[in-house]
Parts: sequence; structure tokens; C-alpha cells
Amino acid sequence: MTQPLALFHSLRQVAEQQDWQYIYPVWSRRAQGLSIGINLHPNHCCNWHCIYCQVPGLQRGASPEIDMPRLQDELTACLDWLTEHLPAASLAVSDYVQDIAFAGDGEPTTSPQFSAALSCVQQLLSQKPEADRPARVRLITNGSQMHLATTQQAMHVLQQMEGEVWFKLDAGNDAEMLTVNDARLPLSLHLQRLKACSQLCPTWVQTAVMQRRVENKLVTTPSLDGYIEALQPFKENIAGILLYSIARASQQDTQASIQTPDLSLLQRYAAALQARGFNVRVFA
Ligand code: SF4
Repeated sequence: MTQPLALFHSLRQVAEQQDWQYIYPVWSRRAQGLSIGINLHPNHCCNWHCIYCQVPGLQRGASPEIDMPRLQDELTACLDWLTEHLPAASLAVSDYVQDIAFAGDGEPTTSPQFSAALSCVQQLLSQKPEADRPARVRLITNGSQMHLATTQQAMHVLQQMEGEVWFKLDAGNDAEMLTVNDARLPLSLHLQRLKACSQLCPTWVQTAVMQRRVENKLVTTPSLDGYIEALQPFKENIAGILLYSIARASQQDTQASIQTPDLSLLQRYAAALQARGFNVRVFA
């Protein structure tokens, strides 16, 4: 095992031993290294119900009340552990930790305490020298709350922290929004939220490309034409597009119908987007 991975597994053990509720270290394919996740929904509640969601026991429901001092203590303990142990491997936190990411087992921005949690991170990081801070702060979001003034204000704060947003778009039309995300939100309204977000903070669109077996046919989502048409107006506004396949099995009862596409399909999507001037990263 390489040393960076060994350190990650040691940190995971610390998280388990100390029974962290809100902070979870993860080795992230898309962040390309260690990500310190912040989970504001340990109750596994989300306002969407994506067919590929990897959250076990996912349900709709209210956000739980966050014990903010506990969240702060857990994040402090995590960063302190890294600051203490990384020098032995000649690593700095700023190089080793790719992000602090608001993600977790539900949509972070639906928590009434999301802004407070973001401020908590901001304050904690402001007390640390640059080498002891993770590379960036990220919000991984389904984007559903971006029409709200409170969320937009938080995006302004995130921008001031030089953070970025990964904004979910898995659909090329209304029907796919419903089928893939169970979002009950027209695509046009979702795109308005993307517009608001991208005007406030650097934003990447993140898209799960998948195939489903429907009546013995393989259906690919998002449908490429509709997806490109939806994104075309944002070419100058977004940082780029993260195209990814489903790496871990869905924990939803739709699991059996989902298939992971070949790399060649992802590459075809990427090529079509790149031909239209988009910056694209592929994670197969
Ligand atoms: S938005 Fe994220 S947490 Fe919510 S259902 Fe979709 S994949 Fe799961």
C-alpha cells in the first residue's frame, strides 16, 4: 500500500474510533485524492431520490438539527491529525487534502444550518497557515436550492473562500429529470438555478452518464442532444463539465436496471461537448 493511501486508512480508523458523525474522510475518484466530507444529513434524508444514489436507506424528509460545536470539533480533530501525521510522509495538508466537501447523505443546501456550517469552516481555516489548509472548499449539490436568497448568499461566501461548486445535471429533458433524479422540477427551472449559481461562484456541472434497461432496450441518459442544448448557453459561465460513470452500486431498488456505460460512450459524450468548446473531464 502506498503511503498516502495508508495515511488515509489510518485517518478512517480515527474517524471510526472517535465516532465522527459529520466528518468523513474519503478517497475520491473525482477529487483525485483525499476529500474531507461534511455530512449535514446523517439521517439519510434528501429532497431528491436519484436512481443511482449510493446512500443506503435513503428517504425524503426534513434535515436534522446539526450539533455545530460537534461538527467543529470533528473537523478540528481531522485537520489536527493530518497536520500532525503528514510531515512524517513529507506531505503538507494543502497538497494531500484535495478538498473539504459539503456532500454527504442528503442535499447539503437543504439544511437550514448550511450557511452556519460554511461559516464554521471559513473561520476554522482562517486560523490556519496556508500549508495546513486543504486545497479548496467544495459544495457538491443537486442545485435545487439555488433560487433561494440564503443559498445564493452562501455561494457568495464560498466564492470569497475561493471555493467551487459541483452542480448536478443528469438530464437532457423534463422526463429524465423525473426518471433519473425523481426531482419533480422542470429542466428549465433547474437551468435557472445553474445560471444563478454560476454567476456567484465558480461552477462545474457534474453529470452521471448511465444506461438503463427499459423493455429490453438500453436507454442512455442524459440524452445527448437535449443535454447539449441545455448546456450551450452556459459555455462561457461554467468552469467545465465532470462526466462520470457510476462507480459504486446504487443502494436504491432501481439498482438492477442500471448499467455502467463503456468508457467509449463517455468519450463520445466528452468529444461532442469538447467540439462545442466545453472543458470536460471524464471519470470512468
Ligand atoms: S441528490 Fe445526491 S444524496 Fe440526494 S438522492 Fe441524489 S445522489 Fe442521493
